Amino acid sequence: MASLSIDHVVKNFGNVEVIKDVSLKVKDGEFVVLVGPSGCGKSTLLRLIAGLEDVTKGDIFVGDENVTRRSPAQRRIAMVFQSYALYPHMSVRKNLAFGLENLRMDRKEINDRVSRAADMLGLEKLLDRRPKALSGGQRQRVAIGRAIVREPSMFLFDEPLSNLDAKLRVQTRGEIIKLHRQLKSTMVYVTHDQVEAMTMADRIVVMHDGIMEQVGTPLELFDTPANLFVAGFIGSPK
Ligand code: ADP
Ligand code: MG
Repeated sequence: MASLSIDHVVKNFGNVEVIKDVSLKVKDGEFVVLVGPSGCGKSTLLRLIAGLEDVTKGDIFVGDENVTRRSPAQRRIAMVFQSYALYPHMSVRKNLAFGLENLRMDRKEINDRVSRAADMLGLEKLLDRRPKALSGGQRQRVAIGRAIVREPSMFLFDEPLSNLDAKLRVQTRGEIIKLHRQLKSTMVYVTHDQVEAMTMADRIVVMHDGIMEQVGTPLELFDTPANLFVAGFIGSPK
């Protein structure tokens, strides 16, 4: 696993500056939650980190390596989305193994990785099922499993729980926290849910209109919000 450093990153879409000179360091093994209203640039920032969009200015480092010009595959950063995008015609086992088969990894290594991920996520008994025979929460676990088997340098989550009902959301949230403890992996997690942010984060980044309003622990943000926007968003009395 690795640290992440975002250094003066700017992203324009046409004439519109969507990410405005953002810098952030995420420590190795840290769980950072990005919050902010819809349209403030959270997904764009994740896509820039993953290499799915090119930065307009600035640099992105994974550990000591400048990955700004590297492809998504070279960055080895896993991204988990809210829509699970599983292959409907493949078993869970096959869904987990598929990305590895494309890497021409040997069969034993693939099987070992699939077993370890299934074990970690409680999917052992579901390996021969098709996605349509799974609940929403189970599908989301398979989607996370597909990221785990690649042994990525870090995980990015883009509102992974927003398609789940309240009960499943709490349960899956617990599983992601457990996973973070087991893998000790660096994670950047986007949500617009303040409760999720306050309960999961080592540090929270509050974004607004392409900038970072404040970065701090949940307690720091609650106790000493930098401005009214942060106070309003976090729900603290200022
Ligand atoms: P969030 O995830 O916080 O809701 P996004 O990162 O999706 O916000 O979007 C930030 C802004 O960038 C929005 O105004 C959105 O319309 C714009 N945007 C995102 N992707 C594109 C794109 N591919 N082309 C043009 N504008 C985009
Ligand atoms: Mg988004």
